[in-house]
Amino acid sequence: MSVVSKKEFNEKIFSNIYNIINEYNLIEKGEKIAIALSGGKDSVLTLHALNNYNEFLDFDLIAISVDEGIDNYRNYGIETAIQNAKELDIKIIQKSFKEEYDFNLDDVYSNFKSACIPCGVFRRNILNKTAYELNVDKLATGHNLDDEIQSFLMSFARGDVLKFSKFGPKLDMIHPKLVPRIKPLWNTLEKDVGMWAVLNDINIHLEECPYSYLSLRAKIKEFLNINEDKYPGLKKNIMESFKKSLKVDLENPPVLKNCDLCGEPTSSNICKTCEILDLISISRS
Ligand code: SF4
Repeated sequence: MSVVSKKEFNEKIFSNIYNIINEYNLIEKGEKIAIALSGGKDSVLTLHALNNYNEFLDFDLIAISVDEGIDNYRNYGIETAIQNAKELDIKIIQKSFKEEYDFNLDDVYSNFKSACIPCGVFRRNILNKTAYELNVDKLATGHNLDDEIQSFLMSFARGDVLKFSKFGPKLDMIHPKLVPRIKPLWNTLEKDVGMWAVLNDINIHLEECPYSYLSLRAKIKEFLNINEDKYPGLKKNIMESFKKSLKVDLENPPVLKNCDLCGEPTSSNICKTCEILDLISISRS
């Protein structure tokens, strides 16, 4: 690909991201935005895109990395996250499961059908608590269009329609301790994220998580990729259907309360983090 094509590609991918930021008013002047930075291609593009967007709007950026404790995997991602943050002169706060819960994901994953269940719950808990303590206005994640469709189909397959309210490029404040989330890559295809990283020779962590193959998400991802090749436009069509159902659901946002045990926001009396921690402590006693 010529230099001009690379320039055009970069302009296209960044303007796509900026359009989502503008259309959904994801960031406002003077805000403090935290980025969940794993070192993977999506979070690294989010970091670069928001850093570039600072040209048009004045706001503060900080990064948060979470080490789940996956041996021979996440340590490389964290290294990449630190290098990217350093290169862009963005402060990074490092957190870990070990420091927060006194175990690594590797120590407890076998108690669950999929390692992704405790991993996702604990990571979201740490990210939200850290963002809240840092007093940021919003937490940006690297969810791309493929991730969003996968999550949508997973909730659909599980009959968990309550989760639909978590979709969309922006999750507004629905509890005083829940930091609003934004997804600047909401409209960006995963293959374009990969292309951006390759074309620009960006330092990203490329390895697949050793636990990912067990997840429902991995199976849905494979199904979508195979069928997108056979029926081009399938992903965008699912996204369009999804946007229609999103409109309906946003009229009834969920009501959150405080967890009886830790006080964090939850839709039940006990939050998922405490529920899973209890399960782990029983299995380890
Ligand atoms: Fe965690 Fe699953 Fe992602 Fe691995 S694939 S980092 S276990 S959520």
